[in-house]
Amino acid sequence: MAVATDIEKTDEQKAICEMVRQFTDEQILPNAEHYDSADEFPEPIVEQMKELGLFGVTIPEEYGGMGLDLTTYVMIVEELSRGWISISGIVNTHFIGSYLLMKFGSDEQKQKYLPRMASGEIRAAFSLSEPELGSDVQAIKTSARKGEDGRWEINGQKMWVTNGLLSSLVFVLVKTDPEADPRHRGLTCFIAEKEPGASENTGDYAGLTVPPKIKKLGYKGVESTELVFDGYRCPPENILGGEEAGLNKGFAQMMDALEVGRANVAARGVGIAQRALELALRYSQERKAFGKPISEHQAIQFKLADMATQVQAARLLTLRAARLKDAGERSDLEAGMAKLFASEAGRSCVEECFRIHGGYGYSKEYEIERLYRDAPLLLIGEGTSEIQRMVIGRKLLQRHKI
Ligand SMILES: Cc1cc2nc3c(=O)[nH]c(=O)nc-3n(C[C@H](O)[C@H](O)[C@H](O)COP(=O)(O)OP(=O)(O)OC[C@H]3O[C@@H](n4cnc5c(N)ncnc54)[C@H](O)[C@@H]3O)c2cc1C
Repeated sequence: MAVATDIEKTDEQKAICEMVRQFTDEQILPNAEHYDSADEFPEPIVEQMKELGLFGVTIPEEYGGMGLDLTTYVMIVEELSRGWISISGIVNTHFIGSYLLMKFGSDEQKQKYLPRMASGEIRAAFSLSEPELGSDVQAIKTSARKGEDGRWEINGQKMWVTNGLLSSLVFVLVKTDPEADPRHRGLTCFIAEKEPGASENTGDYAGLTVPPKIKKLGYKGVESTELVFDGYRCPPENILGGEEAGLNKGFAQMMDALEVGRANVAARGVGIAQRALELALRYSQERKAFGKPISEHQAIQFKLADMATQVQAARLLTLRAARLKDAGERSDLEAGMAKLFASEAGRSCVEECFRIHGGYGYSKEYEIERLYRDAPLLLIGEGTSEIQRMVIGRKLLQRHKI
């Protein structure tokens, strides 16, 4: 099947992107500085996102979502991230959770969760990382053991859970077979229900504590937390796909979800790079040095040229990965390339924009200061650049085996 490689949008995609761009310009950009400096959850913005249906973009219409494809989703994520990557962070883990349910969930699980996820009534987090591991997922120590009543008791500590406090569901990967060899065959994904906003869960959710949110360089507003499971009990029907189908299948499920997650992080890289380019284009025409706008100095034009080229290349790689996935083709290599290139482009464009702002780039008066703190996250989340290179290298050799 031929896959489009240009940035053309369907009429529907154009309309949705225009709507999200307007929302970003009117609601996100004017308010991001306030929520960033207070490190406060942007509740009013999130409420409006629910009304716009942005929590159910990819969820099928039968469950109350918009039923759109990954390509449209990454276009939306680019627009939101152009405003503030924390907003896309609030949607991202939710999107991954809904992807896991749509692809691997049992009918009961889909019926139970997807309609409320589509409306944004409940939001999802996903949790692989632990204090001692991130890249090496197979080293997960948090474990679950089946009790006599059939429920699984989860014990252990998770780290860096985006939306860890305010989510109602956490798709959490834990060890269920400590003897498994290879290790990934002993991991299971549980749908851990919790009380949104509660640091100490009680009743059915007792045994799950959410410590105070982690203080971060950037990516503020959206909370990143640890999760402490200490005797938390999960019914067997909350194993993703059901106990029979899902036990010890969690690693493959999560790796599949990370592939779409990478296209999503790539879109965030495009969005932040695009915003840096816009800010640089504007500032460089306003600021004068040596008797003329700095945009008339060739060294600054070269920076703008490199930035615009990187933005466009990152966008094309991201759309290519999403379109391949939508066409049912392999996109693991392409998603890795898109994530690697777009996250590095995001960091690089933000740094060039910062340089173009001179001393003012260092001031909180200018938006670039926030972008400068936000951009590095994209180099880390959903697999570091080193891990992307490992994925790309491995996939290349698999595809071109002699
Ligand atoms: C703000 C934020 C939000 C996050 N949100 C989530 C979330 O919602 N859910 C979740 O599960 N996780 C989340 N993470 C965790 C994130 O996925 C991990 O931080 C990331 O995977 C890297 O893992 P690590 O921090 O343990 O680094 P490590 O794995 O310890 O890596 C440290 C360094 O070593 C390099 N390295 C590791 N292995 C190799 C290798 N084999 N070859 C070469 N270099 C290597 C890495 O590239 C990195 O440079 C979040 C992190 C941050 C900062």
